[in-house]
Amino acid sequence: MNPPIACQHLQGSLDLRTLYVLDHQLYMTEGLVECRHCRTPYWVELVEAVPRLRLFRIHVLDLTTTRATLHSLDKGSCDLTRAQQEIVHLCSLSTPLPAWLVQADGLFSHLYSWPSGREPSMDNWRTLAGDQSLADLLR
Ligand SMILES: [Zn+2]
Repeated sequence: MNPPIACQHLQGSLDLRTLYVLDHQLYMTEGLVECRHCRTPYWVELVEAVPRLRLFRIHVLDLTTTRATLHSLDKGSCDLTRAQQEIVHLCSLSTPLPAWLVQADGLFSHLYSWPSGREPSMDNWRTLAGDQSLADLLR
């Protein structure tokens, strides 16, 4: 299977729709979203949050596997372990993009390309310091 590639609509302002919330802390911290124009699916994961601004890592997902996983989750299996395994499998097939997804005032607004030489770690908000150093780059 070829690695999934990002759609052309990630240039400029974004129009993403939430498909499935995987984790939340008053707001979504991890989830599956799709492009409203072409339905390319993405996995987003919070890396840092400051007032009015959140940064997410964004990965492109395989369309067929995403549809199958969502269908399986919609059916409502009583086996939570299996649902978790399906999500882990889906995310393992993803391709990370070299940018952060910026959410301003609760809306996904644009991608911010990683500054050269500043490739972020693959940790997420649960393990990163949360020192606002990433958000400071955008100010
Ligand atoms: Zn698109």
